[in-house]
Amino acid sequence: MFLDTGTISEDARIINIRMRQQLKGADIERLHLTNRLDNNVTLRNHLFAAYAEHMKRREYIITRSIKLYKYIWYTVLDCNNEFYAHVKLHISDVVMIKEEGGESYAIIKVIFTHKYNDANVYAFIWIDWLKDVERTDSLLRCPIFEKQRESDARWYRIYPISIINDVPKVHFVHACRSSCSPDIHDTTNIQYFKNIFFYKTV
Ligand SMILES: [Zn+2]
Repeated sequence: MFLDTGTISEDARIINIRMRQQLKGADIERLHLTNRLDNNVTLRNHLFAAYAEHMKRREYIITRSIKLYKYIWYTVLDCNNEFYAHVKLHISDVVMIKEEGGESYAIIKVIFTHKYNDANVYAFIWIDWLKDVERTDSLLRCPIFEKQRESDARWYRIYPISIINDVPKVHFVHACRSSCSPDIHDTTNIQYFKNIFFYKTV
């Protein structure tokens, strides 16, 4: 079931935005998330920063709640307004974010929508950055990355979905230990391997 939530993007090249599987009470608690801006300093401040930096909107945010989802689908157009890509994002996907200094990686913590003061609904991703610790696993020969800890406030974690304008082509796997089960990874272990042998053909 796709939900047409009337969500739009500030970037006209992103269209057909569809959300799927809204998270409610118990799911939100299990993921240690919240749908109230005033319950979480990161959510409150970084959402404000996302509007200010990426959308040039710096007013006080009137609507103090968000709606959280497991999935988002959207279509990206190229500069001639022709079809470019279908992007599907899901909680715990790893995405590549291009920055001035090169390419960075992040894990999607949750996807959410927020109704701004202009009554438009915009979609955002809430991420944890993956930091390259510049070591390689001796057995797998894969670079090791570490997920940003909750307490680490050095980088913004909330971005409009327009920051992801291509199909993610990276592959990371959790550095599982015996404390992980097939269904649930031990989130206290923040290490991930970048699978450099993985090539996705599009
Ligand atoms: Zn694991």
